[in-house]
Amino acid sequence: MARFHEACNWLAERAFAQQCTNKLTLQRLYDYELRTRFALPSQMVGRCLARVAGTYRRDKTVCPTLRPDAAMPYDQRMMRCDGLDHVSLTTLQGRVVGAFLIGPYHRQRFDTYAPRQCHLVVRADGQWFLLVVVQVPDGTPIPPTDFLGVDLGVVHRATTSDGTMYSGEGIEACRARSLHYRRRLQRAAHVAPMDGKRPTNIRRALKRTAQREAGFRREPNHCIRKQLVAAATGNGHGIALEDWTYIRARTRFRKPQRATMSGWAFAQLRFFVEYKAALAGVPVVLVDPRNTSRECRACGHSAKANRHTQARFSCKQCGSTTNADLNAALNIRSRARVNAPLVAVRPPQQRWLLAGAASDKLRHFSASSH
Ligand SMILES: [Zn+2]
Repeated sequence: MARFHEACNWLAERAFAQQCTNKLTLQRLYDYELRTRFALPSQMVGRCLARVAGTYRRDKTVCPTLRPDAAMPYDQRMMRCDGLDHVSLTTLQGRVVGAFLIGPYHRQRFDTYAPRQCHLVVRADGQWFLLVVVQVPDGTPIPPTDFLGVDLGVVHRATTSDGTMYSGEGIEACRARSLHYRRRLQRAAHVAPMDGKRPTNIRRALKRTAQREAGFRREPNHCIRKQLVAAATGNGHGIALEDWTYIRARTRFRKPQRATMSGWAFAQLRFFVEYKAALAGVPVVLVDPRNTSRECRACGHSAKANRHTQARFSCKQCGSTTNADLNAALNIRSRARVNAPLVAVRPPQQRWLLAGAASDKLRHFSASSH
């Protein structure tokens, strides 16, 4: 890994000096020297050329430099999976066979789809990982009979238009706890500076909390998306979400709340929902988020005063009251109904029969397509 990146940096300097981003030109000029000077196997030379040309092309104003422990690309010629328990990798000392620990979920993906490109990475604690890319085709899109509106918030991380609420409690508590802990560490580091640097043990502790926190935050998002996609698939519904490219612009969350919410946690949930939904063939529709929390779903009256408290929505015009998050989720659903044609593509009939509860859905389906 170190030798590979050393070679990359050497090559990058030359590419930069000549302003050359063409892989074939670089190959013609430096292929021989890369093999002899760095003693790289020929496949690795190929990866090195591609890596440098690709990185340099992205930004031509700087000469790319790579860390000795940066991720190292492996293509199919440099790695081979012997079954799913071992992987053999090309190294400077020939092929090295390593035990491959792989979870049941990924094992299944691995069985079905051929691995494409991989990256070999080493974590700070010395553990090695092979990041493998497989390309999984999207599920056959199922034309939705309706939409499941999903509202995302702080108190309830997600509320659906059918009334299910997913709590954000655990996440908030964890976030607050580790923020507190991190602040303490940072203060301690401030008190005891060493050569203008934070002491190593504090640096490590900070890094550890960050990793642990990321894990804690990811987990509930995975749980929620799983249930959301399952609820949508089970009913033959699509999923409607607010279009979060607007999220920064809107004033739905008051200041202290805004500070506690990191946009990325939502972005992550949305990403999880979108890609899992695509795999399951569930369409995702993004709607305009403006006033979803202020508009009355019964009469359409939209006013700031409608939202009484965080939890309660009561309409100033028609007097109907609901849970505020549920009201928003219902608004999101109706916006999706307006935006997206309910039946986009007629699926192969068989799919419906296989999907179960077919007769009901088929009737609904033909009724809405007329
Ligand atoms: Zn109303």
